[in-house]
Amino acid sequence: NIVVVGSLNMDVVNRVEKHPLPGETIKGKGTEYIPGGKGANQAVAASRANASVRMVGAVGKDGFGKQLVASLNQDGIDTTNVLVKDGTSGIAFITVNDQGENNIILSEGANGALTTEDIQSIADALLCDAVLVQNEIPLETTYETIRAARGRATRIYYNPAPAHPVPKEILQMIDVLVLNETEASVVLNRVLTTHKEYVDAAKELVFRGAKAVILTLGPEGAIFVNEHQSVRVPAFQVSAVDTTAAGDTFIGAFASVYKGDNAMESLRYASAASAITVTRAGAQISIPTGQEIEEFLKR
Ligand code: ADP
Repeated sequence: NIVVVGSLNMDVVNRVEKHPLPGETIKGKGTEYIPGGKGANQAVAASRANASVRMVGAVGKDGFGKQLVASLNQDGIDTTNVLVKDGTSGIAFITVNDQGENNIILSEGANGALTTEDIQSIADALLCDAVLVQNEIPLETTYETIRAARGRATRIYYNPAPAHPVPKEILQMIDVLVLNETEASVVLNRVLTTHKEYVDAAKELVFRGAKAVILTLGPEGAIFVNEHQSVRVPAFQVSAVDTTAAGDTFIGAFASVYKGDNAMESLRYASAASAITVTRAGAQISIPTGQEIEEFLKR
């Protein structure tokens, strides 16, 4: 079983012809409410890929909070440890223009109110096969989760997104560090451009203490490095519509199949899952089921 500790957001999406200028009021083409948040997305990806999943996080005392919890429950995710905090839920206000460019205001709401004490009080919920954490809750809470997961979870996955440098003490507790190009540049504090630089970056992060590193490179696929191997997995060729939740799908799907000795198989599975996600619009609504992934792999 998998425990995800992280954010839940309601994505409020509006399509517009062009983005409004300061002071301007424009007509939207309609509003969609799509559950998102990196934590919840990864939980949904793992659950749809047939893992048994528990979510730890916080929503606000508003209608969105109830909807976010209900939608995770619909995916069969245990939300016993999703706390309800005073104030609003996490909300992403997203406008997409006709060119497909996004403007996003992320209001963290209850995600910002998840404390280190909250984690300490549910520490035994972290007894599991894999704990997944990201950076959309307070950094100290993320770090406390990693410390508490040590000795409880078989494997700790950390996705340092949005990007922030990772303290050495934390890096050394990570079993699988998953990051994209931007995050890797921030964590290593240098610009990465060539394939060799990406491989060297992943190797350096293993040298610094992460047991395994997955560097995802969008349509270029992903690189996996641990002390025994360094492999590259190409992305599947698909026509991309919206890459929202691609990385989250990759992590959730990978964690649902990875047992420590089947990296290649798990990477292929995760690549297929995220390839399907990019062919569909939206966050959680775009994440495929295990059956869809199996069928995609057979084509
Ligand atoms: P993030 O969403 O965190 O930025 P990436 O863009 O690196 O992550 O994407 C994660 C994974 O999703 C990639 O490793 C790849 O397998 C898959 N992916 C992303 N974009 C595409 C694409 N255009 N075509 C096929 N697969 C893709």
